[in-house]
Amino acid sequence: MDLTDEQKDIVKAAREFAEAEFRDRAKEFDEKEEFDLSIAKKACEYGFVGTFIKEEYGGAGLGFLEHSLITEQFWRVDPGCGQAICSYSFGAEMVQAFGTEEQKRKYLPPIPKGEKMIAFAITEPDAGSDVTMVKTKAERVGDRYIINGSKMFITNGCLADYMLVFALTHPQEQDVHKRHSIIMVDTKTPGYEANKIHGKMGIRASNTAEVSFNNVEVPVENLIGQEQRGFYQLMDFFNKTRNHVAAQGVGVAQGALELAISHVKKRKAFGGTLSRLQGVQFKIAEMATRIEAARSLYWRSAWLLDHGKVEPSLISMAKWFAGETAVYVTNEALQLHGGYGYIAEYDIQRFYRDAKIVEIYEGSKEVEKAVIASELLKKVF
Ligand SMILES: Cc1cc2nc3c(=O)[nH]c(=O)nc-3n(C[C@H](O)[C@H](O)[C@H](O)COP(=O)(O)OP(=O)(O)OC[C@H]3O[C@@H](n4cnc5c(N)ncnc54)[C@H](O)[C@@H]3O)c2cc1C
Repeated sequence: MDLTDEQKDIVKAAREFAEAEFRDRAKEFDEKEEFDLSIAKKACEYGFVGTFIKEEYGGAGLGFLEHSLITEQFWRVDPGCGQAICSYSFGAEMVQAFGTEEQKRKYLPPIPKGEKMIAFAITEPDAGSDVTMVKTKAERVGDRYIINGSKMFITNGCLADYMLVFALTHPQEQDVHKRHSIIMVDTKTPGYEANKIHGKMGIRASNTAEVSFNNVEVPVENLIGQEQRGFYQLMDFFNKTRNHVAAQGVGVAQGALELAISHVKKRKAFGGTLSRLQGVQFKIAEMATRIEAARSLYWRSAWLLDHGKVEPSLISMAKWFAGETAVYVTNEALQLHGGYGYIAEYDIQRFYRDAKIVEIYEGSKEVEKAVIASELLKKVF
């Protein structure tokens, strides 16, 4: 499988944009734990955000593969900045798949234009991998939902205009998979509060927050999809977004490999450059091979998705393997920088810190393996 000419052009344009707009400022954003949102808005103007949104809702009408390709290039140049830009549309997949026509016309068009940012609050202090434990309650009173509860580690919690909330609407339901629903909250609604989390290990340019809902009232029209179908809608959502996370892993690994290659070609030891040593070449070969394998996995899983074939186990393979590749490659790349990597070379240190998130969010690597195994065990061979 290879990319089409159009996809190759998208990759090239995304790489050029990232090099020009944030390569040189990545250290500053990491240190400040803040991003310059005008760069994200510029990325929107150039058509890099929410590309999967259909044309009738203001997007480019491209596939999830194209969104992943852009993500990979942005993360290759800098993961924190890449996340700050690509997360602008995190949640639009849910609205596009399950929203009413009216909701899609209201919420989607401003996203690719950079006028509005969307985010998604699922995780809570006591509910992470097991989303059925979510306690944030949305009580239906007449024609309103009244939302109360706390969410944890929410990307863009302080910045988003619209927040999708995975909430408990049917606490008495016996089946834990039918207790939750997904509700849209305008973050300007009274009772919505977000507090920025400081001191993250990596992707520090990206905003992460603790969010609380204190008697937040929204009209029942803000239900996205159906009541009690929240869990199933969420699994559908992850089948899309996990491809993007896999692309993040490939991007950070590719960027780290390039930093390592450039270092070993310059650094001298044992009568020549480090790159002449076979032990070093083996490391480079192994890093590159794993990256290529991880990339092939997400290209295939995203391509199948774009062609109407959802394969949750393949998507989970892509996400798990890309996360492991990201952690492996950044570790080896830092190793090849030696003491300079540990002490002075800020870029490789940052990539090393950034990579780990790919193994944690949107399904830890163990959760991905559980999905793979359960899908396989269902099959009769
Ligand atoms: C920077 C960042 C941004 C995030 N952004 C968002 C966001 O925008 N919206 C949102 O809702 N959430 C977000 N999250 C939350 C993220 O999705 C959760 O951290 C993740 O799902 C894991 O949940 P947890 O942290 O509660 O870990 P836990 O569920 O407590 O799990 C801890 C560890 O236990 C192990 N484990 C868990 N389940 C299993 C299992 N079934 N089998 C074997 N081992 C297992 C894994 O090693 C796992 O890492 C973000 C997190 C971070 C760090």
